Amino acid sequence: MIEEKRRVRRQNNEQEIPGDQLFSPLPADKLENVPAWGGASSAMGYVFRPSTTEGLRDVFDLARRSGRSVGLRGAGNSYGDAPLNSEQITLDMQRMNRILAWDPAGGRIQVEPGVTMAQLWQYALEDGWWPAVVPGTMHPTIGGCAGMNIHGKNAWKVGTIGDHIYEFDLMLPSGEIIACSREKNADLFHAAIGGFGVVGTFTSITLSLKRVYSGLLNVEALASGSLKEMLAQFDEHLPTADYLVGWIDALARGKSLGRGQIHKANYLPPGADPNPSQTLRLDRQHLPDTLLGFVPRSIMWRFMQPFMNNAGTRLVNMGKYWSSRFTHGQKYQQPHAAFHFLLNYIPDWKKSYGPGGLIQYQSFIPAENTLDAFSEMLRLCQRRGLPNYLSVLKRHRPDNNFLITHALDGYSLAMDFRITPRRRAAVVRLAAELDEIVLAAGGRFYLAKDSTLRPEVAVATLGRDTIDRFRALKARCDPDNILQTNLWRRIFVPIISNEQ
Ligand SMILES: Cc1cc2nc3c(=O)[nH]c(=O)nc-3n(C[C@H](O)[C@H](O)[C@H](O)COP(=O)(O)OP(=O)(O)OC[C@H]3O[C@@H](n4cnc5c(N)ncnc54)[C@H](O)[C@@H]3O)c2cc1C
Repeated sequence: MIEEKRRVRRQNNEQEIPGDQLFSPLPADKLENVPAWGGASSAMGYVFRPSTTEGLRDVFDLARRSGRSVGLRGAGNSYGDAPLNSEQITLDMQRMNRILAWDPAGGRIQVEPGVTMAQLWQYALEDGWWPAVVPGTMHPTIGGCAGMNIHGKNAWKVGTIGDHIYEFDLMLPSGEIIACSREKNADLFHAAIGGFGVVGTFTSITLSLKRVYSGLLNVEALASGSLKEMLAQFDEHLPTADYLVGWIDALARGKSLGRGQIHKANYLPPGADPNPSQTLRLDRQHLPDTLLGFVPRSIMWRFMQPFMNNAGTRLVNMGKYWSSRFTHGQKYQQPHAAFHFLLNYIPDWKKSYGPGGLIQYQSFIPAENTLDAFSEMLRLCQRRGLPNYLSVLKRHRPDNNFLITHALDGYSLAMDFRITPRRRAAVVRLAAELDEIVLAAGGRFYLAKDSTLRPEVAVATLGRDTIDRFRALKARCDPDNILQTNLWRRIFVPIISNEQ
């Protein structure tokens, strides 16, 4: 943008002005250090938190006047640099958090983008509705979830959140607002969902919720002695489950490689809950304040900290796995919130990773290659002395609608790696090796979790044609390239620059 301003000045025969003086300065009191959720990176920049669409337009005007780019941020729950914008402007959407319209008979809701998942389910549940797709934490905003087109533990059955978005309004950096749906501006609809915030800003989103007949889910816990067994159990239960999620002990070796536990959950059918108006009440969903009846949740992460190393995690995983054998086949009922937002049980659990934080590596592998690819990846992590401390397996279905997509007919494995100054370079090298396995297996990656993807790998997995179409759409919506993030500059700008 600076170059463009210079070019215009030269064209007009105006005097050259050095760097910063070309543009209006930004208020220093807006400078903040914004951390990535995983805590392994951060960005110093100017943060604005408007509460209205007029306020959004003002920020875009300011960006233009000051020659800066604008990075969109929801609740900052992406693990890596997707909502970061170093030395530039960050548009934090969390104050645009009003519920605009609600139809309790049909389950359709219109919200501002800063409404969180927590706000959404807490608003709708007592009317008998639950969000069709939720992530593993209730803190993300709906705008951020649409920006990444998130998936839940029911991804193979209901797809991604985009499949449940009916329409949205998108503000372009020019200030123009475009209404998008599957019928109206369909290309933009399918590019902005999953478009990681570089196409436009959602200013309102209308989505359909799922009818539920109880505040409880029927849950079944199953132990799996190996990855092979776990995949077979998934296959067996996919036709009858509403939700399935697997935890994997990434330190187990040999015949036990990939052992772990599956949780299967099902909605209660109409009439099965004798007292739905009670179980649907919010106070029946709340996560307990203490664990085991006496440990305050808020200090739990301190107890986890000593175990955040290979030996400690091996011990914890062993205990968890063997207790799962004892509870194998156990069936119980659990409130929706407790089942879905397990990670919110322990506030600040990520602090247990220490000051260097964590990097998550989530890859998606076609079903026919899942066993080989994930086995190879688990073994590689162990050989490099970098087993991950939390691994989660999910089943997905293909997505032929959204332009930038992580979904496919197969499984994903999310792996959390602890970062310390000594381990950082080794984890980045390991990620590059893992990338090769994923590419060879025909797999994909997920930008919401990403910190390590390289441009050439993005081209290989997304395909040149998809990137070109996305880029053309972005150029149409954002000709001055105002919308940028660290992730955009890390992965996509080099791809574009190499072509020129
Ligand atoms: C503990 C934990 C568990 C998780 N579990 C899952 C899971 O099970 N499944 C899953 O899919 N994800 C999961 N996630 C990832 C998370 O759901 C996504 O990263 C989500 O995008 C975060 O939303 P956010 O509001 O925090 O957005 P941010 O992280 O702030 O932003 C996400 C992206 O959306 C863009 N954006 C934000 N607001 C807007 C807007 N108004 N208009 C356009 N673009 C916008 C940003 O530029 C950015 O690219 C998990 C994250 C955590 C921390």
